[in-house]
Amino acid sequence: MSAINLDSWRDLPAAQQPDWPDRGELDKVVSELQGLPPLVFAGECDQLKASLAAVARGEAFVLQGGDCAETFSGATADNVRNKLKTLLQMAIVLTYAAKIPVVKIGRLAGQFAKPRSKNTEIRDGLELPAYRGDMVNGFDFTAEARTPDPGRLLRAYHSSAVTLNLARAFAKGGYADLRQVHAWNQDFVAESPAGRRYEQLAREIDQALAFMRACGPEPDEFHTVDFYSSHEALILDYDRALTRVDSRTGLPYDVSAHMVWIGERTRQLDGAHVEFFSRIQNPIGVKLGPTTTPEEALTLVEKLNPDNEPGRLTFISRMGAGKVREALPTLVEKVTASGATVAWICDPMHGNTFEAPSGHKTRHLDDVLDEVAGFFEVHRALGTHPGGIHIEFTGDDVTECVGGGHPIVEEDLSLRYETACDPRLNRSQSLDLAFRVAELYRS
Ligand code: PEP
Ligand code: MN
Repeated sequence: MSAINLDSWRDLPAAQQPDWPDRGELDKVVSELQGLPPLVFAGECDQLKASLAAVARGEAFVLQGGDCAETFSGATADNVRNKLKTLLQMAIVLTYAAKIPVVKIGRLAGQFAKPRSKNTEIRDGLELPAYRGDMVNGFDFTAEARTPDPGRLLRAYHSSAVTLNLARAFAKGGYADLRQVHAWNQDFVAESPAGRRYEQLAREIDQALAFMRACGPEPDEFHTVDFYSSHEALILDYDRALTRVDSRTGLPYDVSAHMVWIGERTRQLDGAHVEFFSRIQNPIGVKLGPTTTPEEALTLVEKLNPDNEPGRLTFISRMGAGKVREALPTLVEKVTASGATVAWICDPMHGNTFEAPSGHKTRHLDDVLDEVAGFFEVHRALGTHPGGIHIEFTGDDVTECVGGGHPIVEEDLSLRYETACDPRLNRSQSLDLAFRVAELYRS
């Protein structure tokens, strides 16, 4: 038996947990989840941790992304394939530009729960519980759909299994072939009105690939990629039920994903999430918004990575384009000065959300790009490593964020606004972002 108490969080305040109508039902579901096979292996979590240690040393770059909120109906082959395809396309551009390995982490196969700023939603005078993600309740605005249903935890598990199975097949089964991915990028450059801007870069990648081919036998890395899953571990009953003691090491891992993170709304220093995360061995992330103090960041380091294990802790800053240049430097400076080894990555989405006149929640690609540029500037000025980006995107042609090379304007938002939560970059906007980040390496 493990000496580590995995239930110490139960005595602490846990923010953003559903109000389950029937605790007995929840207990039944939890015990069923406890008997189900792991979705990932502890050894894979350790591999990701080693890759994130390289990020913390400045020797690799993270590309983490996917939906704000996955849905059960969205776990289709097309959907997962399009996300993987876009992520691979972005990764090749970033690898070429950064000249270091890109660690690919999906925000998928488990991203089914959402923190909300309000507990209820009012429409036409009717007040119902807010939608908290498919893991908790339904999106439809009816009392029935919005009532939390513990059975959804099981569906989340099975949906994660299906998605991860597909993602693994795409990553290892030939779909990730470097030349094929590059050919998709060439199509993007040729089709995009803003494409000419990226022609030179695409040509250089082409030449680099031709050179490598001429050199002889191709390494496996040309045909397959390592791909990891991640989600915000929000619903503690779910992630606790999927935490298992690894037989190799006798240590507990949350085997629902390779990496899990704590959101901006649940990172209270004395709260249940920080406590739970302090007990698991996975590589973990914590979102840091613009109000984070250096003392809070240092306490998070102390609680979550007391042994200063490289790759264990990633700080995901989400300051907003207007604040990153002021809010981030002190945090990076103080954490670095403390001797703590962390990876820093930038979420340029969550500090840049606004409401369009139509009422749609949206983000402007220019703000997203500006926050990433600010993130690079801050790290360059401090001599620290801008370790990666964390984005909300989809491989499909949605109209949720404005701007981009195939520009979407606010009037377009209602055309294909399909997100269950926050607005995602579409495929073209995501590729635009990758090429623009690549340009930051040249400036
Ligand atoms: C999210 O990643 O969807 C999210 C809610 O982010 P944050 O916790 O940074 O607000
Ligand atoms: Mn979001």
